[in-house]
Amino acid sequence: MRKNTPKPGWISEQLCVQTARTCNLFCVYCQNPPTGVSAPKEKTAALIRKKGIKAVSLEGGGEPTAGADFFDWLKTLKAAGVSNFMLSTNAVALSDPDFCRKAEKAVDYFTVNFPSSDPGTYRKATRSVKFDMAVKGLENLKALGAEDKIRLFHIIFKDNYRLLPAFADWVIKTLPGLAFVNFTFVRNAGRVGDSAEIVPRYSEVEPFLKVALAKLKLKKIKAVVQNVPLCRLKNFEGFSFEFQRWRRGDRILEAGIAGKAKNPACGRCTLEPACCGARADYLKIHGNKELVPSAKDPGTLAAEAF
Ligand code: SF4
Ligand code: SF4
Repeated sequence: MRKNTPKPGWISEQLCVQTARTCNLFCVYCQNPPTGVSAPKEKTAALIRKKGIKAVSLEGGGEPTAGADFFDWLKTLKAAGVSNFMLSTNAVALSDPDFCRKAEKAVDYFTVNFPSSDPGTYRKATRSVKFDMAVKGLENLKALGAEDKIRLFHIIFKDNYRLLPAFADWVIKTLPGLAFVNFTFVRNAGRVGDSAEIVPRYSEVEPFLKVALAKLKLKKIKAVVQNVPLCRLKNFEGFSFEFQRWRRGDRILEAGIAGKAKNPACGRCTLEPACCGARADYLKIHGNKELVPSAKDPGTLAAEAF
């Protein structure tokens, strides 16, 4: 089996800062909904100064750009020594060209939560009529020459998985120069509330996801899959984010992500060390019948470009 040499901090040692306290969308699958409270600004800046942190990710608890103090946050963190910013956003606020221009100057990467290129599905996902604004936000970034700063974050849920191939076509046509697409299987957390109406089965999603990945790969567009067990990515394992983390010697699951549940299939599987497994919250809805132990050596699997 391949030797897994740790390379600490390969993904980055960025600090996640919850600058948001509200959101301008109301996604059905929101896993970390707003609470009305953001991180304390001055305390956060002091911590950053003390630890010498240079990179932050503005994410969690809502939409950072929905707060009137968004640029004040950037200014405060910059003054504390931060030189690299990643912004997790739904891109709605970026539909304003002036706002977008100002944000683009300050931010290195935009992780854009964009659940569908189909307006009706987007409406169902976000319970909003802001599809055109989100698309405009993406177009504005592209017009500023920042297409390569866009990381599309596509949460796979019950209403959009059949459209995954069409979504890949849309990316190819609209944003071929983006940084990458992250397909993340919805987690049963936050607003999801154990709903089988929101969380599909891995096996239902699998064929559509594989077609989407193949389409993007053929056009040399990078893509990665998060929170899907390796046995449901057969022959596409190299797209797994957690597998790539394992290969690079990082922890399989990011900090703050609930761990994989124990189950008999995983106990008999050689892919287990490199696999995100299934979470207890998934098993609660759909059980463990879809998990299939493998005898493959994860060290022999090739990673896809990411
Ligand atoms: S998923 Fe993101 S954009 Fe959607 S409601 Fe939650 S914080 Fe807002
Ligand atoms: S059986 Fe378990 S460990 Fe093996 S690939 Fe499936 S989920 Fe991962």
